Amino acid sequence: MNINYIEHIGIAVKSIDECLPYYENVLGLKCYSVEVVEDQKVKTAFFKIGQTKIELLEPTCPESTIAAFIEKRGEGIHHIAYCVDSVEEALGEVTEKGVRTIDKEPRHGAEGLNIAFLHPKATCSVLTEICEDPKRQK
Ligand code: ZN
Repeated sequence: MNINYIEHIGIAVKSIDECLPYYENVLGLKCYSVEVVEDQKVKTAFFKIGQTKIELLEPTCPESTIAAFIEKRGEGIHHIAYCVDSVEEALGEVTEKGVRTIDKEPRHGAEGLNIAFLHPKATCSVLTEICEDPKRQK
């Protein structure tokens, strides 16, 4: 697959509100978007560094996969997202290579991106997201 850049790094937190002062006042980043992604049961907050983003993920209910992650591994880095030309093509390619994926088809994520997750058992234990920005000029 053709990875263009790191689109974002997802960080699981218990409370976005409690983390904002660190990102804004210490790191000097500006939160430009807060979005609830209903089907993933998460609230997200975004910061931009160059073309790469930091995505804070807060569970909106105890059934959220983010809540389960925090329960099991604590707060911290949750996943890394690579920007590719086409999620559909990349999914086909990794499936051909025998890589297990969580998503069989691209789906809609935060920020209007098409996304898909690869399975951490097949990615050296790092939950890996591939994403594609339909608005990006190729
Ligand atoms: Zn993500």
